[in-house]
Amino acid sequence: MKKFFMTFSILTALVCSGAPMRGAVCFTFDDYHGPNWLKADALFKKYNAHATFLVSGEITDAKAAVMKELQKRGHSVGLHTEHHRDATRFIQKYGEEWYFKNELKPQLDACKKHGLVVKNFAYPNNRRDERTDALLWKYFDYLRAGWGKAKKPLYFPANKIENKMVLGGGGIGTYYNTRVEDLKKQLDEAARTDSVIVFFSHNIAPGAVRIHMPTEVLEELLKHAQSINLRVIGFDELTKFKTSGK
Ligand SMILES: [Zn+2]
Repeated sequence: MKKFFMTFSILTALVCSGAPMRGAVCFTFDDYHGPNWLKADALFKKYNAHATFLVSGEITDAKAAVMKELQKRGHSVGLHTEHHRDATRFIQKYGEEWYFKNELKPQLDACKKHGLVVKNFAYPNNRRDERTDALLWKYFDYLRAGWGKAKKPLYFPANKIENKMVLGGGGIGTYYNTRVEDLKKQLDEAARTDSVIVFFSHNIAPGAVRIHMPTEVLEELLKHAQSINLRVIGFDELTKFKTSGK
């Protein structure tokens, strides 16, 4: 009898825990598509997944409410500047103080007013350099950029995730010529190497084209991530993920 229970509990443990989770994928969405982002939450929920939403433009009361709701549902939010001006070009031309006053401060003030804690940022048009990073790290922890000129996937080893980082991601959408089969292979590689891979897109809608994420593609990727035990997490979960190693 005792033996039976032991076997039973081992089996239960195996079934419940499954294979260990390895690596993570961070899907990020830029600009502002609040109503559709909220609509997509059901899909993320179905796969126990979270994303990061990076908002540009004036943070109105309505936008702040959506950002709060997304946070409440376990997602991460961040900022993407007041007027979507390239950090590199405008800082070179007008300096850090000007960029802070015109592109960052209005959004940061609005977040403060609404009690929103925001530690993530996405570079407009993914344009960054060391000078812009130095300014932005004063206000944010994770700075989302692109994969760079080579357009090669970047994999960030889980044990090297830091509290402040630039996280380069790849675009998903017809404009970026992404193919689901390639994306799945990139997820496989992140799991295999216990690394974090980052992607960016904008709206989420059925049949979306150009720079936007088709809902069908998102579901296929979420399903694939689940099948290979790859976490799907928001930027706010990265530090926890690093320290727990789980
Ligand atoms: Zn943008």
